Amino acid sequence: QLIFLDGEFVSKQDAKISVYDHGFLYGDGVFEGIRSYNGNVFRLEEHLVRLYDSAKSILLEIPYTKEEMQQIIIETLQKNNLKDGYIRLVVSRGVGNLGLDPFTCKRPSVIVIAESLALFPKKLYETGIEIVTVASRRNRSDVLSPKVKSLNYLNNILVKIEAGLAGVPEALMLNDQGYVAEGSADNIFIVRGNKILTPPGYVGALEGITRNAIIELAKDKGYEMEEAVFTRHDVYVADEVFLTGTAAEVIAVVKVDGRVVGEGVPGKVTNDLLESFRELVIKDGVK
Ligand code: PLP
Repeated sequence: QLIFLDGEFVSKQDAKISVYDHGFLYGDGVFEGIRSYNGNVFRLEEHLVRLYDSAKSILLEIPYTKEEMQQIIIETLQKNNLKDGYIRLVVSRGVGNLGLDPFTCKRPSVIVIAESLALFPKKLYETGIEIVTVASRRNRSDVLSPKVKSLNYLNNILVKIEAGLAGVPEALMLNDQGYVAEGSADNIFIVRGNKILTPPGYVGALEGITRNAIIELAKDKGYEMEEAVFTRHDVYVADEVFLTGTAAEVIAVVKVDGRVVGEGVPGKVTNDLLESFRELVIKDGVK
């Protein structure tokens, strides 16, 4: 496996960064998770826009242009002979002094890892998953906008820990006002009647690229698709619930906090959108 590290391709064993890198010391940096299907990198442009926006927001200058970064990603996939892969792109503040001051960091570190990935076992896409609501909250009023995909993922990790302790693969995070925000690394959708709802970005959800693709697909297919603020109660009484994310793709949720969703199996709308999503990803991407 070859990893892009600061301008060079190195083996997995040699892919190391300094303990003085502020990405390591402070989580000072940004990242993206991107996916390639049959050699097409899905929505690469959107991922790069989000990465560069996140970096700009934290005053981090990425030492490559978007076009160069696109090439680096394609090359990393090619060097690893991956047609179907998961790409992790990390830009950290780089090596500096101990102490928070990012101005001591001379050059950001850029890392691109590509490998194959299966987030949930295949069977779970047929059966759906169970989730619970956790105590960790998505804070809307953080100075750092939820739109910034930063290396500070402790909150999301706590969500994963709470899910693991409850014996379920994923969990639901509310925001500081108690409205439904998102999962640990995926967005939530609920279906009631012919209506499909997902929380708007300002509730605290990351504006996921899979989420955006599903919103477009749902509208194209004639569903009534709305961004709306909703509560746990709305999730409990929904006909269908599903999660979306680069790693998770589209996965049905069949139980929430012990309440069975709909018939307790992946619903019609979820399956319809999952199928359309799978068709979309193989034809819509950067080669
Ligand atoms: N929410 C969070 C906190 C995430 O980290 C992710 C993953 O990137 C998502 C949602 C889903 O976003 P996307 O579909 O762009 O992967």
